[in-house]
Amino acid sequence: MSGRALTLATANPNKVVELQQLLGDGWVIARRPSDLADTIEDRDTLAGNALKKAHEVSAHARSLAVADDTGLFVDALDGRPGVWTARYAGPAATAEDNVAKLLVELAGVTGARGAHFATVIAAVWPDGTEVVVEGRVDGVIADERRGEGGFGYDPVFVPVEGDGRSFAEMAAEEKNRISHRGRAIQALLDRLA
Ligand code: IMP
Repeated sequence: MSGRALTLATANPNKVVELQQLLGDGWVIARRPSDLADTIEDRDTLAGNALKKAHEVSAHARSLAVADDTGLFVDALDGRPGVWTARYAGPAATAEDNVAKLLVELAGVTGARGAHFATVIAAVWPDGTEVVVEGRVDGVIADERRGEGGFGYDPVFVPVEGDGRSFAEMAAEEKNRISHRGRAIQALLDRLA
């Protein structure tokens, strides 16, 4: 490993602050260089897309780069939306559109509504070294939206480890303790330590 500088594949300032707080003062975290074009996420796995993003950013910034990719995998839909989770209802889909489509697709499904979220985080060093970690949470898709918190599919995702509330009905810290993303970040911290 070379140094303690890290460039994120996202320009989202909230994600920069989040990781900076978790990694501590020993790390200097930069966000995605503004002169680097968006990565085309055309791989058919979360790891493929995360690695593609991390390699492009690492080559451009000449530093360790970290990229994540998240998907919702619904059993009754043979794992869809999967890598298409953000664009499930179309290229410009909102979270509202995506959830509406999911509920329509599952309307005819009786019985099992099992699903899981997975987040893959890829870390790539300038010499090409790769580390890939994953976090996962199992749950079921509710019949209708519940709760006001969170984002994305949270109102319809009920984790099996909980007490029947959806992610959108939980406090952020409570969700982060068991979430796919929280677990993937913890796995990354373990590998970077
Ligand atoms: P991304 O890879 O972080 O861009 O996430 C891909 C898609 O998954 C987006 O549609 C997000 O809204 C959704 N998503 C990611 N994490 C969560 C979550 O914790 N709860 C609900 N939806 C999520």
